[in-house]
Amino acid sequence: MGVDLDTRLRTVVGAGAKRLEDARGLRTVADLLNFLPRTYLDPARSTSFREIPHGEDVVVVGTVTEAVLHQMRARKGRMLVVTVSDEFGGRIKLTFFKPFGHQDRLVPGARVVCSGQVGTYKETLQLTHPDYAVLDDPTGKSSGGWLLGGLVPVYPATPRLSPIVHGDLLDLVLHALTDLPDPLPEDVRVGKGLPDLLEAYTLVHRPRTEADHRRARWRLKYQEAFVIQAALARARLASDATPAVPRTPVPGGLVDALLDRLPFELTAGQRAVLQEIHDDLRRDVPMHRLLQGEVGSGKTVLALLAMLTVVDAGGQAALLAPTEVLASQHHRGITAMLGPIAEGGMLGGMDNGTRVALLTGSQAAAERRKALLAAASGEAGIVIGTHALIQDTVQLAELGLVVVDEQHRFGVEQRDALRAKAALAPHVLVMTATPIPRTVAMTVYGDMTTSTLRELPRGRQPITTHVVTGEKERWVGRAWVRVAEEVRGGGQVYVVCPRIGAEDDPDLPAGSTVGPGLPMSPRGQGAPAPDADATVPAVEDGPAAGGDDEDVAGPGPQLHGVHQVARALRALPATRDLRLEELHGRMTSEEKDRVMRAFSAGEVDVLVSTTVIEVGVDVPDATTMVVLDADRFGISQLHQLRGRVGRGGRPGLCLLVTQGHEGDPGAVERLQQVAATTDGFELARLDLETRREGDVLGATQSGGRSGLRFLRLARDEDLIVEAHEAAWATVEADPDLVTLPALRRELDRLDAERAAFLERG
Ligand code: ADP
Ligand code: MG
Repeated sequence: MGVDLDTRLRTVVGAGAKRLEDARGLRTVADLLNFLPRTYLDPARSTSFREIPHGEDVVVVGTVTEAVLHQMRARKGRMLVVTVSDEFGGRIKLTFFKPFGHQDRLVPGARVVCSGQVGTYKETLQLTHPDYAVLDDPTGKSSGGWLLGGLVPVYPATPRLSPIVHGDLLDLVLHALTDLPDPLPEDVRVGKGLPDLLEAYTLVHRPRTEADHRRARWRLKYQEAFVIQAALARARLASDATPAVPRTPVPGGLVDALLDRLPFELTAGQRAVLQEIHDDLRRDVPMHRLLQGEVGSGKTVLALLAMLTVVDAGGQAALLAPTEVLASQHHRGITAMLGPIAEGGMLGGMDNGTRVALLTGSQAAAERRKALLAAASGEAGIVIGTHALIQDTVQLAELGLVVVDEQHRFGVEQRDALRAKAALAPHVLVMTATPIPRTVAMTVYGDMTTSTLRELPRGRQPITTHVVTGEKERWVGRAWVRVAEEVRGGGQVYVVCPRIGAEDDPDLPAGSTVGPGLPMSPRGQGAPAPDADATVPAVEDGPAAGGDDEDVAGPGPQLHGVHQVARALRALPATRDLRLEELHGRMTSEEKDRVMRAFSAGEVDVLVSTTVIEVGVDVPDATTMVVLDADRFGISQLHQLRGRVGRGGRPGLCLLVTQGHEGDPGAVERLQQVAATTDGFELARLDLETRREGDVLGATQSGGRSGLRFLRLARDEDLIVEAHEAAWATVEADPDLVTLPALRRELDRLDAERAAFLERG
């Protein structure tokens, strides 16, 4: 029976398989082979015992030079102390409090491999009860032979599995394999001079030289990128083969009516993208277009024009927003922009106008019923709601276009779920406000065509960003004075906190980071507050309240909470007269909506909130943003956040306040990078370098076996581009992969995982 990647470890290694599964969840041959060494040791150098880093898990090779049984003083019994020496004169002692079974194996002259955590006892290096293997063991229990003659692979440590046992089991598997079907087409592999799959696994686990494992790793990464790109290429080909209803622009329709109504001209960039969208909609294959552009670059207007194009052509459009706040905001904004166009059939409305229906989870039942009816009857040409809601509840007779507003979240799940649901595929337009680095675009949106809005509409004001660190308390104090000045000048202010906190969170201690009466470092000896009468009595800090989905979690000092900060600002002389409201995810939708409306209407001066304001909020008079504990936010997220200010006629100001704890100088540096540029692409690239892939890719890409195993999007750009080209060429030449069964199997596997993921939701 042939052994391949899907073979259960049990059938290859027998009972040892249970240890691999229990310790590391490894069940198949592929699982074990894909569990790669963390690093390698060169036995000719690093196992020289003198160089062994203390406290590390090590594997060493040496010769037993002495073995002594000591009578223990403190307790009954004897102890075995074995001295092992390396060729460079280094020595290490192995101690066993239960000598039985060891003393006849660890005899002078025996070559041994041992592994454990290094400690010192009386100035000698020592391993206590180490795992070990004896090479050429006289008792016949020989193992560890794989450690000889090459680099020693070091795997991520697992408490319940000895590296020696792991290595022995892996050896059995490598020996059982004679051949592995290779998903990489022969011509691609040979053309790039890559080892075949089995050779690659052998080289990565048993390299003789550095070059061996580098070559092997490169090949494994390349394969991963190739398979992803092949899947995307096939998806795109399949989708191009699915019919969609063409939605040809109708002159003199609602699109023209809106263009007439807009108080501005589209920018050249917007006109070009609208043209691209119109060209897509005309075709009888579904559009898959990604529209990226900074916050405020005018994507929403374009989405609206796309939706009206479809309505003009007799269809309906759905706009999916990531949150309820954003769905309501879109509804408000779009209804206002449309004016009479959205009052079809109503008094004063346009005769041939349409309706816009909003669906949210918190709507009253009657209101919801009305919206559902309008959607189902086709009376509403545009339906706006959150992803989940629209997917689960709405029947749209003539769904012609789905617009997905992803803001800064990359995710393929919703798009897939919707595509799977429609009978005739709808056209799809995805909007994202985060400029997407090329590798992410290719990997996550590889099956879409990209449009980018590069210029901001005229009239957008520059945003100045300053980093305010804990060391400069005077500056932080100044920040609140500045906030008050902004408000007096007619501006509005966002104050963003990393967490909501509890109503009964302790007051912020006096005289620390956020200035007079405000925050922070509970451990800090803040300078005396400049405005002494404003100080809030210091109280012992309680444990940080957590568990809220908008809260930015993380260790470290107590983070600012919305309730706390609002209370402090209401007490501070500089700010106590300002009209202040709170906004966060624990409020009901009506409350949130009320606050947002009031803020939009200029009835609120200062909005203290979590990142719920991040998505899509558009208040022209908002000029200033203060982000507290700014180091707790991602680079792109901060860039998104500050995009909320300076949207009207006046320049924006963003203050990134950090408690800048010493252990993390990188955090302040990151903030400085955000302050230094407003180039979203540059920041997105930086972001990718500092975040884990999973955060960037969303659940499907990061979870479980379908996750990126070897690729790093920030580092492997060239490789991804190469694999992209090769894979698309391969799939175009042989769309059904009849000549490439191994690749086909790999893609089926990927599909199955993806389907299972979507099932689970
Ligand atoms: P985005 O969705 O990309 O964040 P929006 O479409 O919400 O951007 O546009 C931001 C603001 O700019 C809105 O108030 C919008 O009305 C306005 N706007 C859009 N396009 C233009 C333009 N060409 N000229 C002037 N203002 C524009
Ligand atoms: Mg927008």
